[in-house]
Amino acid sequence: MGPIFVATNLCIINQTVSILASPIEYLKGVGPLRADLLRKELNIYTFDDLLNLFPHRHIDKTKVSKIASINFQTEYIQVTGKLEFLETIGDGRGKRLIGQLRDDTGVLELTWFQGINWVQKSIGVGNTYLVFGKTGFFNNKPQIVHPEIELFVPAKADGKNYLEPVYPSTEKLKARALNGRQIAKLTYQLFMQLQPADIAENVPEDTLHKYQFVKRHEAYRAAHFPQTQEEYDKAIHRLKFEELFIAQVRMNLVRLQRHKASRGAVFEKVGSYFNGFYNNHLPFQLTNAQKRVLKEIRQDTAKGHQMNRLLQGDVGSGKTIVALLSMLLAADNGYQSCLMAPTEILANQHFMGLSTLLKGTGIELRILTGSTKAKERREILAGLLDDTIHFIVGTHALIEEVVQFKNLGLVVVDEQHRFGVAQRAALWKKAVVPPHILVMTATPIPRTLAMTAYGDLDYSVMDELPPGRKPITTVHRNETQRFKVMEFIRDEIAKGRQAYIIYPLIEESEKLSYEDLMQGYEQVKSYFPEPKYSISMVHGRMPATQKETNMDRFVKGDTHIMVSTTVIEVGVNVPNASVMVIESAEKFGLSQLHQLRGRVGRGSEKSFCILLTGSRVSVDAKERISIMCATNDGFKIAEKDLELRGPGEIEGTRQSGALNFKLASIVNDKQLLELARFEAENLLEEDIDIIMAKNLPLKKYLQSQKGKTGWSKIS
Ligand code: ADP
Ligand code: MG
Repeated sequence: MGPIFVATNLCIINQTVSILASPIEYLKGVGPLRADLLRKELNIYTFDDLLNLFPHRHIDKTKVSKIASINFQTEYIQVTGKLEFLETIGDGRGKRLIGQLRDDTGVLELTWFQGINWVQKSIGVGNTYLVFGKTGFFNNKPQIVHPEIELFVPAKADGKNYLEPVYPSTEKLKARALNGRQIAKLTYQLFMQLQPADIAENVPEDTLHKYQFVKRHEAYRAAHFPQTQEEYDKAIHRLKFEELFIAQVRMNLVRLQRHKASRGAVFEKVGSYFNGFYNNHLPFQLTNAQKRVLKEIRQDTAKGHQMNRLLQGDVGSGKTIVALLSMLLAADNGYQSCLMAPTEILANQHFMGLSTLLKGTGIELRILTGSTKAKERREILAGLLDDTIHFIVGTHALIEEVVQFKNLGLVVVDEQHRFGVAQRAALWKKAVVPPHILVMTATPIPRTLAMTAYGDLDYSVMDELPPGRKPITTVHRNETQRFKVMEFIRDEIAKGRQAYIIYPLIEESEKLSYEDLMQGYEQVKSYFPEPKYSISMVHGRMPATQKETNMDRFVKGDTHIMVSTTVIEVGVNVPNASVMVIESAEKFGLSQLHQLRGRVGRGSEKSFCILLTGSRVSVDAKERISIMCATNDGFKIAEKDLELRGPGEIEGTRQSGALNFKLASIVNDKQLLELARFEAENLLEEDIDIIMAKNLPLKKYLQSQKGKTGWSKIS
C-alpha cells in the first residue's frame, strides 16, 4: 500500500463543510447498495463515521508462525502454507468444507460450515495462502474454523509494511464482500481522499506538547494504518485522551457556566435558626466530612448562582443532618425548603426525625404525600403560599403543579436515583429564581464514574462515618446451616433486638420468587411461632396501606422480624435491628447487598449480616460475597462493582451517552481520565468562553459537533 495521506489538487476544500461530512455513498468503492448496508449494519452515514470505525486488530504480515508451534495454549495464529486439499464432506446440515494447509513443519485443517460455495470458488488447491484465525483441536489435530484466508504476498524487504487493519463486520456485510479486511480497503480509500488538515486538531497545542500526544490526523492515520505496534499504541493513547478530554470539557462547561451565569437565591447570612439549632439542638458533634460538605454548600449558596450539588455519602454517614442544616440556612435568609423522598415510608421517617430535632426552634415543618387528607392538604398548600410553612417533606406529591411556594430556595432530593430528571426539573420551576438543588445518594459511585456521569454537577463526598459505629460483621452461610442462623436470630431477639430476612424479588411480577417469599415466610413462622414472636412482612404486591402498617409495626418495635423483599432497601432506619439475613444472596448485585446491609449497624449494638446461599454458587457470585465479607466500605465496594460489571450496569448512574466511549474505558483508563479532567478544568478556568487563540481549534471542533451530541452550551 502507498502513502496514506495523498496531496490532492482536485478541489479547494470548502472552509465550512468538511469533506468528512460527505455521505458514505460518495466514497469510491461504496455506491448506493453498500452505503445502505453500511448505514444499517454499522451506523456509518458519513466519511467521518467510517473514520471513527476503528479496527479491532491488525495483521502483521511479518509475524508468521509455524504450524508445528500450535498447542493447546495457542489462541489466534497466523500461518502461511500451501493448500493441498479442499473438499466438501457430508450433506444437509452436516455439510462442511475441509481444507488442508501445509507448511514445512506440519498440517493445519481449515473448516467452513457456511459460505461453502463462495469459499470454494475463491480459493484453490496448489496456491500459497496467508491464514489467520482462532485455533482449536479436532481429533487431536490443529484446526481453524472459518479462517481468514488470502493469497500470500511476501512482506517488503525493508519491512516497512503497514500493519493491516481488520474491522468489525457483520454477516450481512460479509455476504456483500465487506468483511473485516475488505472494509480496510474502504478506509484506505478514505485516507487517499483526505488531507491532514481535514482531520483538524482539537486539543490545544500546549496540552499536546506537555504530554507528547501525537497530532490528531497522525493519530487517526496510525490507529488505522500503523507501521509498528508502538505507533499504534501512541495513536490510541492520544485518541482516548481526546475522547475523555472533549467529554470533560463539555461537562465542566455546563458546571462552570452555571457558576458564572446562572441565577440563584443568595444565602448570605448565617442567622438565628442555624445558630440556635447548632448550639442548642444538635444532638452530636458533626464529623469532619459533614463540616466540610456544609462549608461547600455554604459557599455555593452565597454567591447568587444556582447550586447543583450531588452529595454522596455511604449509608449511615449522616446526610440528613447536613440537609437539615442547609435548610436552616435557607430559612435564615428568608427562603423555604423542601425535602423529597422516594417513598412514603421514607418521607414519614424524615418527617418524624426532623420534627424531633426541630422541636423548639420555631421552624414550621409539614409533610405532604399521596395519603395526606384533603383538608390538611388545603392547609398545607395555603401555608406554602403564604410562607407560614418553612420546611416541607414529601414524596412525588410535591412535584404536582398545585404545590406552589412563596419563596422556595432549596430543594433536597434524597436517594436521587429513584427520581427522574424531568421530575426534578419540574421542581426547579417552582420559584422565580431557580432553587438550589442538593441531591443526596447513598449508592456510592466510584470517582471516575461520578466524574463522567455527573461531571456537570458539583460533587461532595462524605467518606467518614460518625464515631462509635461498630463495624458490621458479615458472614457467608450455606443453606444447610439455616437452623443455626435461626438460632442466632433467636438469641439476638432474646437480647431485645430485631432482625430482617430479605428475599430476592427482582421483578415484582415474578411469580416464582413471590412463591419463594411466601414459602420463606411460612418457614420463618415455623421457627418463630406466635404468640411468642411476631413477624412483619412487606412485599411489592401488597397494597400500599398494608405495607405502611407492617413497616410501621417493625419500626416501632412491635414485631421482631421483618420478612421482606428489597422494597425496604433504601433509607429505612430501625436502629434496634441488629441482624440482616439475605436469602439467595448469590442473586444480588454488590451495591444492592451493600444497601441492604446498611439497614443494620445503625444503633449502638453490634450488628451482623448473614449471606445465605445454596451450595452451588457461580465464581462471580462467590467473588461478590467474599468482597462483602471483607469490607464495609461502600466506595471500595463500588469500585469492585464497576470492575466486575462495567459502567453500563451500575445502579444510580445516568443511562446517558456520557459513558459510551468508543475507545476509552473508565475502568481501564482511570489515569487518563484524571488527566483529561485536570486539563479540561484548567482550560475552562482560564478561558470559560473558549475565545483564546490557543483554544480556537477546540472551539471549532465543539461547534462542528453541535447537534450530534445534544450539547449546545457553546456559542
Ligand atoms: P444517611 O447518610 O444514611 O442518610 P442518616 O442521616 O440517616 O444517614 O444518619 C444515620 C444516623 O447517624 C442517624 O441516626 C443520625 O442521627 C446519626 N448521626 C448523623 N451524624 C452524626 C454524627 N456526627 N455523630 C453521631 N451520630 C450521627
Ligand atoms: Mg438517608
